[in-house]
Amino acid sequence: MANPFDLSDRVAIVTGANTGIGQGVAVALAQAGASIVAAGRSSMHETEAMMKEAGTRFHIVKADLSTIEPVKAIVAETLNVFGRLDILVNNAGIIRRADAIDFTEDDWDAVMDVNLKTAFFLSQAAGRHMIATGGGKIINIASMLSFQGGIRVPSYTASKSGLAGLTRQLACEWADKGVNVNAIAPGYFATNNTAALRDDPDRCASILSRIPAGRWGTPAELGGAAVFLASGASDYVHGVVLPVDGGWLAR
Ligand code: NAP
Repeated sequence: MANPFDLSDRVAIVTGANTGIGQGVAVALAQAGASIVAAGRSSMHETEAMMKEAGTRFHIVKADLSTIEPVKAIVAETLNVFGRLDILVNNAGIIRRADAIDFTEDDWDAVMDVNLKTAFFLSQAAGRHMIATGGGKIINIASMLSFQGGIRVPSYTASKSGLAGLTRQLACEWADKGVNVNAIAPGYFATNNTAALRDDPDRCASILSRIPAGRWGTPAELGGAAVFLASGASDYVHGVVLPVDGGWLAR
């Protein structure tokens, strides 16, 4: 019987695959058989070594995603190198922390540009190809702040709430074209993004006390959800924002 989670012959773009959740997702997709295109601005050496170990076909596209300038080239280079594009993971994201009363326009625009604007226009570029070729999978990395308010992160909450809405919007337009658009909402994972929270003993203790699993997640623990949403196993799943959160939202 065919394995519905098998990604052999599939090609996936993962943004921000050099570290953290993007790296964890790239490794999981590779282990399921996909070839990986890593799009980002920093060195991909560590991820490249992991891909070599997994025996995965791997290509790096240098791209600063703070503007939409590179999005067409990311898709074009993927098609040029691997000849197909089946999966896009919009993972790259930033966070800026300050009280709402003092929040600057720069902190607003920087976060909205990477987390929401580039995610939309990269989805558009990939979606055009996927629709033309009969289908594909787009996975947005959302957040608990796609559901909740958060503290001192107005642009992050706006961007991740927007990304959840965008996930549903694109699903409505593209589901009948064979393109699945879904999101994963990580809870609290130990990555650069949450270093400031983990370094603050009071904040760290208060977060941990609210997580039913009682610990921070690791990037590898998002892999199963990513493989599911990238594979044929999720062909009738459209527009969901899937929490992987150690039970945070159940609390
Ligand atoms: P991270 O380690 O800070 O990773 C963020 C990734 O985004 C890095 O690869 C980073 O590249 C990339 N990126 C940021 N700005 C970029 C730009 N202008 N151009 C290209 N790449 C850029 O944190 P993470 O936790 O793995 O975050 C990954 C995603 O998960 C983000 O969307 C984040 O919002 C989301 N998330 C994380 C958590 C959590 O608990 N950690 C929870 C919910 C959602 P550089 O290394 O070059 O900066």
